[in-house]
This record gives sequence, structure tokens and C-alpha cells, in this order.
Amino acid sequence: MARDPRYDILFQPLKIGPVTTKNRFYQVPHCTGMGYLRPNTLAHMRRMKAEGGWGVICTEYNSIHPTSDDLPHVSAALWDDSDIRAHSLMTDMVHAHGALAGAELWYSGARSANLMSRLPSMDVASLPNLAGMPFQARAMDKTDIANLRRWHRKAAVRARDAGFDVVYVYATHGYLLANFLDARVNTRSDEYGGSLENRVRLVRELIEETKDAVGDRCAVAVRFKADDTIGEDGQPIHGERRDMFAMLADLPDLWDINIADYSLEMGVSRFTKEGALEPYMSWVKSVTSKPVVTVGRFTSPDTMVSQINRGITDLIGAARPSIADPFIPKKIAEGRFEDIRECIGCNICYSGDSTGTPIRCTQNPTMGEEWRKGWHPERARPARSAASVLVVGAGPAGLEAARTLGLRGYSVMLAEATRELGGRVAREATLPGMSEYIRVRDYREQQLQKMPNVEVFRESRMTARDVFDVGAAHVAIATGATWRRDVFDGKTYVDITSDGATVLTPDDIMAGHLPQGPTVVFDGDNYYMAGVIAEAVARSGQPVTYVTEEDSVSAWAEKTSERWRVRTHLMELGVEIVTAHSLTGFDGQTATLKCAYSGREKTLNVSAAVLVAQRTPNDDLYHSILATVDGDATRLPFTLTRIGDVDAPAIIAAAIYAGHRYAEELEEIVDIDEPMKHDRPDVGAVLSVARPAEKVRDYFGTLVAYYEEEISGEAWYDALANLFDGDRRDKMRLLAEVERHTAAIVRPLIDKHGLDVQDQVALISEGRMAAARWAGDWNGLIAYMRQGFPAYVPAFEALEAMAPPADRAILRRMTEHELVAIDFLEREVGGDPDSIAPLMTFLAVPATAKAA
Ligand code: ADP
Ligand code: SF4
Repeated sequence: MARDPRYDILFQPLKIGPVTTKNRFYQVPHCTGMGYLRPNTLAHMRRMKAEGGWGVICTEYNSIHPTSDDLPHVSAALWDDSDIRAHSLMTDMVHAHGALAGAELWYSGARSANLMSRLPSMDVASLPNLAGMPFQARAMDKTDIANLRRWHRKAAVRARDAGFDVVYVYATHGYLLANFLDARVNTRSDEYGGSLENRVRLVRELIEETKDAVGDRCAVAVRFKADDTIGEDGQPIHGERRDMFAMLADLPDLWDINIADYSLEMGVSRFTKEGALEPYMSWVKSVTSKPVVTVGRFTSPDTMVSQINRGITDLIGAARPSIADPFIPKKIAEGRFEDIRECIGCNICYSGDSTGTPIRCTQNPTMGEEWRKGWHPERARPARSAASVLVVGAGPAGLEAARTLGLRGYSVMLAEATRELGGRVAREATLPGMSEYIRVRDYREQQLQKMPNVEVFRESRMTARDVFDVGAAHVAIATGATWRRDVFDGKTYVDITSDGATVLTPDDIMAGHLPQGPTVVFDGDNYYMAGVIAEAVARSGQPVTYVTEEDSVSAWAEKTSERWRVRTHLMELGVEIVTAHSLTGFDGQTATLKCAYSGREKTLNVSAAVLVAQRTPNDDLYHSILATVDGDATRLPFTLTRIGDVDAPAIIAAAIYAGHRYAEELEEIVDIDEPMKHDRPDVGAVLSVARPAEKVRDYFGTLVAYYEEEISGEAWYDALANLFDGDRRDKMRLLAEVERHTAAIVRPLIDKHGLDVQDQVALISEGRMAAARWAGDWNGLIAYMRQGFPAYVPAFEALEAMAPPADRAILRRMTEHELVAIDFLEREVGGDPDSIAPLMTFLAVPATAKAA
């Protein structure tokens, strides 16, 4: 569909100093838990956003010197020239899609203890470590400031040399420069302290020096907050920010504006809705002539347009929306609004940084897997066969499995016991503040509706017999989990009830069974659920006491940056809070609590207890199927797999991931001994020399599989050719010829290594059967191939990478055959009369190479 002119403004180019962004979609710097430790994973993740149409794509915070080291939180780095190489991986790929790349230079100050580099941190004054560690920063003297300025300049030059187009001076989020600006933190008496002009001096110097160093080629952006201190949500306390801003207003090329309260800026949807920064932005654009970008978890194109038209911002800044859907810009451009995968505001993405692990996303299971697994947020590899798949259970795991299997082209049946799809998200979204979680279901349900090869059966509770009767080749059990009515005491699950008392669980509350009278809510889960349940009960008018064994409320929600808000919220609702206590007994009138430290017991007079603890997998169906073959799954007439909460109860993101992984890996060859690419600083050939035999074994299996694919691929194209006439038939035959030629190219390797290949007849019939299932027209076929083929390229490249050097030239040609096919498809849709040229070029080189 053509672009709706209402959204044209989002696609207008904008000049940012010496560079121009092609549109208004701007991925602001966001952390990833990858940084300098995982350069390939990182670069390919950012590449995907460029492919999805973002005009500017920035790095996370880039440390400029080892005195600013954030481990175990993984930053990017620009410490030396090796970082230039790592970053150019990203900038090259971003540029290839016509986007700009931005680098945020970062100096921490008192927020980092430099646990890895072991150098003292430095800040504007002698400050305690602001992340609560028993380290203090030293007050910077004149030499330190001179050093800092030199490090910043050198890092800016490295950023330019790495190919970045935008370089940041990062003056917010409580890091060093923010502390220099802040009158209460900056207690210096030299020319960097005291008056506003003095406090602004260092930021001004860094902007000027960065412009001087790289400003002819790169735009210089400043990240800056619009308000002074944290106040009530939506009611900014601007203090001297406006005056400060006015002093610098036209110095940089771009202003990237955020606010003092990170828990609002990065707010979870439970407490913060789209566009929450707007009240803070009221004055910003009136004080500068330079472009402004700000964030607001924007997923609605109308909100985006309105932000620009009303003069709040020039560019639509996004971190989370670009994580949940790297293709938002393309989808808006193509009028595919229903395909937008909206962020749910759960902040699981942020937990990657908090835990020092690569980013993940609840909505987008491919986030962080672009390089490691070759996954793509919009495409999946084509189905290997015409097999049918039964997915039982339409919670997050089942929905995502069905969606991705459908995308691959399998015939999918999705059976759900209830009328409503969504499983746990449908239930949880009814709880206070949780409504945006329904987006997990809605996106997938909408996608399934568009897939003719996916059938959804509601109100279909499956028994083992039903599963056998369906006759599918593959069965995925995604029947979820149920909240338990006992608690884990550190070793085992124990019933805490006596005198015939019963306890409630979140499942009861979500089913509408609210307690009557004073209620204790015990949190043995420590994420969001107990807080939400306590709120639901409190809102129904019952007095609530929230109890946790941890030292804080919703302890794990620290990782998602919401813990602090949860506790404040519960206090405002009048919920009593008891920390460091377990719930050891409930008799219907009294709850017994035990102190985690002293072991001392105390009682609460309550008439109800809700346990928010662990969950039991709903695996009856799975086991009853296995029971029919005495537990020997190989005797089943189908493959049987548990996915999501029924396999291992966890967060929603894990269920979505499990569903996606199942679908992506079905009928694929996955080496479970080495299931994924390993991104780490590589010391070269030592590993492969030390373990040649094992390496080669993995390689052989993959080589054979791909060789066999060329044979069935030739049969597939040949059979498809018969569906068309004239030059379309010829084109299909030419593609068959490319497959045949590729098999001939690779054959010497099969012979050289003495590898066993499946029966030719079986391979040919597999290809023909797959073709027989094709029911679309020419354009549909081309679109189908365009969607699926790119996923093969990284797979072939991975084979090249694992091959002995002598085999690589031949394997390169195998990769090339995929590239020429993709080239052909692109030319074909572009109406090129000579679309077959790349195929002809490939075929012109004879397949005579002998294996060395
Ligand atoms: P997950 O998070 O792993 O996706 P959920 O608990 O959210 O799990 O969803 C499980 C879904 O499976 C629920 O919608 C539930 O109604 C459905 N379900 C459970 N047992 C059966 C069954 N035997 N047949 C069909 N659907 C089932
Ligand atoms: Fe949004 Fe959650 Fe994904 Fe983060 S993890 S981008 S908050 S859906």
C-alpha cells in the first residue's frame, strides 16, 4: 500500500549540521548488554534497524577511557584503535541501508567504580559512588580536566574514523557532565564551579572541541535534560535548565532531550504511557534553532506526526519501539499499520544492561539473535517440507510458534482450550495498569488472521487422543503453567495452610475471585506480579499486607527499572509492606511470618492469603501422549516438543522466545552440542587447532545437508516451472540450473571427505512435493522467495566460516549462488528486463574446480 500523505512529514529529510538524515526516525543511544564484548551481535542488531528504515541509529554509551568503566554493565568503548574496527562493522552496515550512525561518548564519573580497570573514578567533587558501591570518586583537578578533554577529543576522532556521522557530548543521566552542570553537586570554587557560566564551561568546551575535531564531517549532538530535579510526574521543575540551555542553544548541531526522572523517561507501561515527556519539552524548541529529538515510547504514527506538527520535537526518538519493532518506519511508509509490533513497556530489554547480558525483548524474539542465529524480525527461513504442525495452547509461546511456522510456510493448526487467545497475557492484561501487555496477543492474532496456512481452533481442549487424531507430523505442546498453592522453602515446596484454610493465587484473582477482608499477599516471585495483585486487592477495598523474603519490594524489578515505582505506588495505595520475612503458616485467621535473619516469628490477623510464588507446568497432556508409547518419544508418529511455560515457567519474553525458536528450528539441523555462534574476543586459530576432529564433524553434517538441499532445490524449481509459461517457465528452469550447477560445484567436497548423501530419488521427490503444495501465482512466488532467501546467506557464510581453509573457495561459490538468486529476485520485482543476468554470470563459470 502507498504511504498515507498524513505521515509524509515523518519521511522528510532533515539536515543535522554537516549530515542529513533521510527521515525523522531516530534511534537514540540505548544500552544493549553487548557493547565492546560482543561486537558482531551488536553490529547486526543495529543493522536490522537500518534495514527497517530508521534514519539515524546510535550506539549505546561509549566509554572514552578506562577511568570510565561500567562492568558488569557492558558499555561500548572508544579506548583505542581496535575499537574503530569493531564499530566500523556497524557503521558500514548502517550506511549500506542509507542511514546515519551516531556514537554517544560517555564519561561516567562517580556512577562507576571501575571494577574492571581498577583506576579511581573522577568527578566534579569527592563524591560517593552513586550506584551504592563502597568506592568514592576523586575530585578532578585541572590536570584531570585537561586529560578528560583530550580523551574526549581522541574518542571523537576515533568515532569519526569508525564512520560515525553523529558524535555525542553526553551531559545528562547523572554522569560526570551532568554533575558539573548541577549547582548542588558542583561545589568547586575554580572556573568550573560557582556561577552558571562556570558550571556550563566544561560542556561548552567539549562541544567546541568535538566540533573542532570532527565537525566538518560529523554532526555534534548533545544529550541534555529539560528539567532540573525530579518532581510529580508531568509537572516539571525546570529550575535553571532553560537559562543553561540558552547559553549553549545554537552551539551543537542537534539536541537530544530527556528528563531528570529516569523511571519516567524509561517508565514501564504500568505507570507511564506514550508521550510522557511532552510536558517537559514545552520550551525547548523555542530556545534553539537546531533540530531537537526526544523520546516517548512512540508507537503510534499519529502521535509521532502530532509531536512534530506541534513543534515539540523534530525527530522521533526511540529506543524501545525500535527494539520491539525495528521495521516501524518501513511499515508506516508502506501503510502496514496493523503489522507494527508495539512495545508493551515491560522493560525486559533494559534487564540486559542491568544483568550484563545481551538485550532481549518480549515482543521481538529476534532481538539480539540477528547475528548469532541469523534470525530476522520480519522473515523466517522457508519450510523444509510440506509437513503439518499442531500447536496446542495459544498463550505467548503457542501464538509465536504458530506465527513463525506460518511465516515459514508450514500448514499449522493452533488449538486453544478457551474462546480467547493469549493465555497468560490475556489474563494479566486485565490487572491494574497492565493493559498494554495485550499487545503481545494482538500483534500475533492479527498476523495469524492473514495466514491462509494457519487454522485457529478455539474452545478446543485437546486430549492425547485428539492429538493423535489430528495426524500432524509435528506437535508442539504450549499449555502453559498454573500458579502454585504452596511455597518453596529453599529446598522443597511446602503447604503452609492448616485448619482447613485455603490460599488464593494470581490465577484466582485473574478469574475474578477476590478475597474478602484483610489479606496478606506473599511475594515469592519477586517480579511484577505480587505488586500488581496487591494493587488489585487493595483497589477492591480490602486492607493488604505485602510480604517478601527479600530486602525490598519486587526485588527483581530492579532490573527493569520499576522496583522503586512499585514500592512507592503500593505505599500510596495504603498497602502495608513487610520485607525480609517468609510466610510460613495460614489458618484462615492468622498468617505466620518468619524473619529471614533472626528466625523470629510474628503473626498477622488476616482472613485471606494470596501466594504469588512459583508455577506448576500444565504438562498432563504432554505426559499422557508420552504414556501411550511408554515414554519412548521415538515411537510416536509425530515429533513432540514442549515449549514455553509448560517446559520451564518463566517470563513472557522467554515463552515468546521458546515459541520462536521451536518454529525457526523445526526440521532444521541444529547441533545441540554447539547450538549457537559464540561472540567473544577471538584469539584466532588456537581453538580449531586444539579440537580439529570435533570442528570437522559439525562441518560435515552441515555440508551434506546443504548439498542435499541443492538437489531437492533443483527438483523444486523444475516442478514449479511447469506451473508457468513462456519466459517465467524459463526463469524457473534457470534457477533449477543454478541449483544443479551449485551441487556440481560442491560435489568434489562430498567426494573428498567421503560423505554419505541421502538417496537422490528421495531428495528429488521431497523437492517435487514441496512444489506441489504451492498454490500462489508468479508474484506470490517471487515475494515468497524474496522473503525467505536472505536468511540462507548467513547460514552459508557460517558453513564457510567453519570449513577448513582448503574448502572455502568452493563454499564461497555456494554462498554466491544464493546471492545471485536474491539479485535476480530484486531485479525481477524492479521490472529489470535483464533480471536473469546475475544467474547467467554465475552459470558462466564452470563447476570444474577440484577439491584441494
Ligand atoms: P505460555 O506462556 O507458555 O504461552 P500460557 O499459560 O500463557 O503459556 O498459555 C497456555 C495456553 O494453553 C492457555 O491459553 C490455555 O488455555 C491453553 N491450554 C492449556 N491446556 C490446553 C489443552 N489441553 N488444549 C488446548 N489448549 C490448552
Ligand atoms: Fe518494549 Fe518490553 Fe520489548 Fe523493551 S522488552 S522493547 S519494553 S516490549
